[in-house]
Amino acid sequence: MVLHYPGGIDLTEFGIEIPVAPDRTQQVLDALAANGGPGAAWLRGPDGSAIDRDDLLRVHAPAYVERGFGPGVDELMIEVFELRNDDGSYHRYNPRAARRPLSELFAGWVRWMSGTYQCGKEALRDGFCFYLGGGAHHGHYDFGHGFCVFNDIVTAIRRLQADGSVRSAWVIDVDAHKGDGTAALTADDPSVATLSVHMARGWPLDLPERDRLGRPAPWLIPSTIDVPIAPGEELEYIPRLRQALAGLDASPPPDIAYVVDGADPYEHDELPSTADLRLSLARMAERDEIVHEFLAARSIPQAWLMSGGYGRRAWEPFAAFLSARIAGR
Ligand SMILES: [Zn+2]
Repeated sequence: MVLHYPGGIDLTEFGIEIPVAPDRTQQVLDALAANGGPGAAWLRGPDGSAIDRDDLLRVHAPAYVERGFGPGVDELMIEVFELRNDDGSYHRYNPRAARRPLSELFAGWVRWMSGTYQCGKEALRDGFCFYLGGGAHHGHYDFGHGFCVFNDIVTAIRRLQADGSVRSAWVIDVDAHKGDGTAALTADDPSVATLSVHMARGWPLDLPERDRLGRPAPWLIPSTIDVPIAPGEELEYIPRLRQALAGLDASPPPDIAYVVDGADPYEHDELPSTADLRLSLARMAERDEIVHEFLAARSIPQAWLMSGGYGRRAWEPFAAFLSARIAGR
């Protein structure tokens, strides 16, 4: 299944100048349509699943959640999207260009999280679902960074656990950036195993050991399995991914796996902080096939999320993977 929530978030409407192509989901759908898919049998829309305040409170600090629902929402979004420099001036943010208030960005964000939960339910029903959204793996208990307000992945898993739909989960994160929020939120929880394959250096692994509030840096927060890829190690990527997946086999198969399928390791990604990892389209496709086959061979329901992927060609790895799925390869 391909799950699409129409009316995605366009950051430029809020005056935010981060190069997330607002139409990358549409570009993926257009590419699939050009190949004769996805068609009604594959495409799903919102089914009324909704992540609400109680779901957020299962995962995040009450004071943090309430900021989003009150007058603190503008400041919250400026923090999370890192729109202010240390000297107080704006960074990648031009409020004069905004056509909508940041409170609407927050509301849209929470609605967007609902797709991650629905994606899990679709995966449990059909074995595989790819949500054209989701993957906010930098959302922490009481703060967010890297454009992630809350952590939709852990929120969805906790909701599915509360529903009684699943007991255990894996999170396989192949976005270019380490899944630090997911690791922190599931630390010491034997019901969730996390695997993160990411750039060995650069954001968020270059943050100081403690931030100004004393919180530990992402490099101090281990995933169950971490696979750092250093600059120039692109040829090592696939063998090390295979090795890491084999490491997950040490734990019993879970009831569901979320795959955080960022396209930002792609060589044509345009976010400056991803320049250290440059996988070809063929290697990106191989990455996704390996994860898909690994889970399918174990009959583990797969819920895939888009996560990162920036610039004009971010849609290409997603379209390649989904074209293969729809064609039944
Ligand atoms: Zn990323």
